[in-house]
Amino acid sequence: MSAPIVRFAPSPTGRLHVGNVRTALINWLFAKGQGGKFILRIDDTDLERSTKEYEQGLKDDLTWLGLGWDDTFNQSDRFDKYDEAVAKLKADGLLYACYETPEELERKRKIALSRGRPPVYDRAGLNLTDDEKAAFEAEGRKPHWRFKLSGERVEWNDLVRGPQGIDTSSVSDPILVRGDGSYLYTLPSVVDDIEYDITHVVRGEDHVTNSGAQIEIFMALGGKAPEMAHTPLLVGADGQGLSKRLGSLSIQELGKKGLEPISIASLLGKIGTSDNVEIRASLDELASEFSFDKIGRAPARFDEEELMKLNAQLVLSLSYADVSDTLGGIAGLENCPDRELFWETVKENISTVSEASSWADVLYGAISSDIEAEDKGYIQTAAETLPAGPYDLETWGKWTKELKDATGRKGKGLFMPLRLALTGEGRGPDMGRVLVLLGQERAAERLKAAAA
Ligand code: GLU
Repeated sequence: MSAPIVRFAPSPTGRLHVGNVRTALINWLFAKGQGGKFILRIDDTDLERSTKEYEQGLKDDLTWLGLGWDDTFNQSDRFDKYDEAVAKLKADGLLYACYETPEELERKRKIALSRGRPPVYDRAGLNLTDDEKAAFEAEGRKPHWRFKLSGERVEWNDLVRGPQGIDTSSVSDPILVRGDGSYLYTLPSVVDDIEYDITHVVRGEDHVTNSGAQIEIFMALGGKAPEMAHTPLLVGADGQGLSKRLGSLSIQELGKKGLEPISIASLLGKIGTSDNVEIRASLDELASEFSFDKIGRAPARFDEEELMKLNAQLVLSLSYADVSDTLGGIAGLENCPDRELFWETVKENISTVSEASSWADVLYGAISSDIEAEDKGYIQTAAETLPAGPYDLETWGKWTKELKDATGRKGKGLFMPLRLALTGEGRGPDMGRVLVLLGQERAAERLKAAAA
């Protein structure tokens, strides 16, 4: 097989969400795993709903995720090419004018259904005489244009779904050009796929029916249809469709929550496949493992909690050097004696790098600790026996051993009041490290306040 050329073709009418990013990712992983090309096509033929801001937004999102493209273009720059294709289809008798209003079409649909027939367009437009057309135009009607399907069965071997067939007599001839002259997505997509030598069309399974018509348009325009792969759609953890929730599942929002690009890619690249969902180090690693054979037919479950867990796995693997820039922006850490130790200490207790700031608050901000009356005396003793600084990782062990001998306390009774007094929290990172990070002065102040 020669190296694949694929395209991801979003419409710039909103921000990217996990659903369309999964399509982008699968395209990218497949192409890059085979040394191929990934093209970003901007489907902006709908001039009213498309905006440059959304276009920039989706480019920013893809860049942030690491899904770079080898080429990009806008459909809105290519109307002359689509006009040429229209002229050819008309000349070949494959594109015909129709004059029905939306209301008339709806009426036909209802009549067909009430008679128990599938609501397939009756091709009335195909049989109009020149006089009848002229009469409609005299009324001020503008034609829309339908592609004449063959009425035969179109078959392809889908890389995800296996052998597929669409009986084109069971679907309406698709409208390619609207009455106002604007294009629906169907034709421009095919024209571009031919010109850019797209070898594989990889998209969501909501496009399966389009593929029947599009394969015929590929043939009509003298091209060969690319290979097709239609992936199952995403559902939420509850098995329900995601469409209503997609707004809050934009990549921008997930980024704001502190999720890292590779966590998102690891999840979206693995859900719905036969591989385990685990964090991966890089997109290249994901690409080397990618295969259409691994994608199942069942919907892929997207669970934000699972994404957080993957991110926590990733956070654990990050070194201080990886995060030092982010930590530099965290308020309170200017008081930290050893930022590397801080990172190594808190990373087990957080799911996102930015959550480190809550531990900076605990260590260097104001805390309040609720010490039981029966523990106050113990905390007083702790304050009196607190060793002099500077502290190292041995200090805590020596100090608590001394306290144990002096008070007879052990286990939880020995440690929990100290944790509460020193951090204001009932749980958290290793106290031996916490004590070093606090330093003598802060630890002494906190014990004193807690004992009072
Ligand atoms: N703009 C279309 C969509 O987002 C592209 C579909 C395709 O990949 O052909 O649904």
